Amino acid sequence: MTAIEKPSCYNLLCMSKELICLTDLTSDDLVALIAELGQPSYRAKQLQHWIYKELAASYGQMGNMPKTLREKLARKARISRIKPVHESMAKDGTVKTLFSLLDGRTIEASMMQHPAGKGKWRHTVCVSTQAGCALGCSFCATGQQGFERNLWPGEIIDQVIYFTRRMRHGVGVEVDAVPNVVFMGMGEPLANYDALMQVIDILNSPDGLNIGARSMTVSTAGLVPQIERFSQEKRQVRLAISLHAAADALRNKLVPLNKRYPLEALMKSCRAHIETTGRRITFEYILFENINDSVQQAVELAALLKGMNCHVNLIAANSTDNKNFKPPVHNIVLAFQHELERRHIPCTLRVSKGADINAGCGQLRSRFLGTERG
Ligand code: SF4
Repeated sequence: MTAIEKPSCYNLLCMSKELICLTDLTSDDLVALIAELGQPSYRAKQLQHWIYKELAASYGQMGNMPKTLREKLARKARISRIKPVHESMAKDGTVKTLFSLLDGRTIEASMMQHPAGKGKWRHTVCVSTQAGCALGCSFCATGQQGFERNLWPGEIIDQVIYFTRRMRHGVGVEVDAVPNVVFMGMGEPLANYDALMQVIDILNSPDGLNIGARSMTVSTAGLVPQIERFSQEKRQVRLAISLHAAADALRNKLVPLNKRYPLEALMKSCRAHIETTGRRITFEYILFENINDSVQQAVELAALLKGMNCHVNLIAANSTDNKNFKPPVHNIVLAFQHELERRHIPCTLRVSKGADINAGCGQLRSRFLGTERG
């Protein structure tokens, strides 16, 4: 029996009433689009160059393409699916942007900067992969908003392009610089698996943004079957697990997905990932006052991760509107870190970026929706 071929994003969009968006399309899709318009295939390469190298925001900029072709394209395809509707910049330089989608839904993304030595800065773009999220983590503003829909590949890529464009126009940044990308914004990236992999491939492609696979990180709350699939595909992209607790009873409360995939299953898939890919895993551990920040809990975490090729990122919680999840005082954070180090678990204390502009996942959108809904 022949397997039914899954329709490509391009075919799905052709079937829908919406205008196609150029960033939804793979290289082959762009060739098909250009062929459909009766043009030679090299025009697809030119188009791709304008999208990913020149970061064109309009067809008018595409000077080496015939005007008639640009007009035909404009009737057929959009350049972007997202529109910035609100933006704020934190004291530490973090920019957080709320985007509206064509259907009126909103998502948020941010760009952080870190000193990279010799007066240079490294930029990291944190993008959303879903509007809302179905996983309902108790500390997360997005989790409290519920799930709306998966994002199209173009809606994810457009977030990266938006910030890359912004970055290139920044003072003192080399013109061909590309950011690191973390899929750690709104939504569970591995729950939008096919779109995410298309995005990774386009961002990674020399004809796309040419972002190294190792400069991209997929962060998951622990969808075990998708972690296993991701491991088998052996992409060089980094994997991060939002852990936040080393005991099932507590993790069930913080990350309800843990009831479906408890720590034993999650750790098994992580060990298999390290074995299969040869790559280190990062565990994100947000410290919440009097919830998961005791020295005893550091001991449990060290025991859970013992012998694994991993790194723990410790992050003191953002001060949010949710008074149930406050950051611990600094000494408690240091004591937790010290205990992990004493037990030979590599860890770094990360500074929470953009705290003064609601840069935690879903916080800006919450504020915005709250305002909008009055
Ligand atoms: S923390 Fe991530 S996985 Fe959990 S609810 Fe928020 S967006 Fe979803």
